Amino acid sequence: MTLEKSQLNELHWLMEMLHNIDVGLVVLDRDFTIQIFNGFMENHSGLLPREVKGKLIFDKFKEIPKEWFTRKAESVFLLKNKAFSIWEQRPYLFKFDSYRPVTGSADFMYQNTTFIPLLNSTGDVSHLCLIVYDVTDTAVNKISLKKANDELAILSQTDGLTQLFNRTHWESCLIAEYKRWTRSEHASSLVMIDIDHFKQVNDSYGHMVGDEVIRHLSGLIRQHVRETDVCGRYGGEEFSILLSDTPLKNAYIFAERLRKEVENSIVIYNDIELNYAISIGVAEVDKSMKNYTTWIESADAALYCSKETGRNKTSLHTNKTQ
Ligand code: GH3
Ligand code: MG
Ligand code: MG
Repeated sequence: MTLEKSQLNELHWLMEMLHNIDVGLVVLDRDFTIQIFNGFMENHSGLLPREVKGKLIFDKFKEIPKEWFTRKAESVFLLKNKAFSIWEQRPYLFKFDSYRPVTGSADFMYQNTTFIPLLNSTGDVSHLCLIVYDVTDTAVNKISLKKANDELAILSQTDGLTQLFNRTHWESCLIAEYKRWTRSEHASSLVMIDIDHFKQVNDSYGHMVGDEVIRHLSGLIRQHVRETDVCGRYGGEEFSILLSDTPLKNAYIFAERLRKEVENSIVIYNDIELNYAISIGVAEVDKSMKNYTTWIESADAALYCSKETGRNKTSLHTNKTQ
């Protein structure tokens, strides 16, 4: 075999390999018309090389954002450097279906794309090569892992019985709010709630009914708060609500509305119907409170005052029983 023939053979094999390789290869000229389009691109787009050759890439693939792509490609032409597009930022360049059996849950093929400058004999970048990698497996795994982690994070912050925040998470929100207050000094109030004579509910009707009462109260709390309020189950039948941007006067109005709603409602469990009541303590954060625990203690002291002076009432931290 002559040298020329063997070189031709090598070139032929090389072309064959590039055509069959399991990544997408596209070569564009400076006007963004397609020059080379390999088998991977053909199989996934359903377009034959002769249908795309000499055509503007944006005409054949409308999903490619022209402005973004041009900016990226121009930097490759200019700087003679590679550029990348990753699936986390842009899930795909070419919208292809995903046929993977394992990752069948993906609606499309996630792609990473490398932009490579191709130099001509004078050292100028005359063409641009796009290498398209199918990263659907990695992307789907990473997305489902993130989803599971997010769900787990929510679960670890949530109280199982009421779906309100658990005490640990609620307290971390309170700490953040206290810090925010030290900077802004925007009014912020804390509402502590305890169900009256709850032991009697358990003793008379059993724990299942007790649980139903706890669920009932958490439902009412959810109905009454704003989206920015932070509600937690502080303990067994104790609840805490952080009302941001709310002075004591408004927190009192909120607390009384909730208390009256509880007073007027009936909990139904199978054939059991019962009433219950709550006692409330409210404290607005102020300069005398040197840390967040003093704030809790102030609201708790107000709650204790409600209990001491007859229950089913709201007391304010000023020690004036309302
Ligand atoms: P008070 O009016 O003084 O608050 O009286 P109380 O009976 O509510 O007294 P206390 O707050 O001491 O009682 C709380 C009771 O709540 C004791 C505990 O058995 C019950 N408890 C705590 N957590 C749960 C729970 O998740 N489910 C049920 N059913 N009961 C609970
Ligand atoms: Mg209690
Ligand atoms: Mg109680």
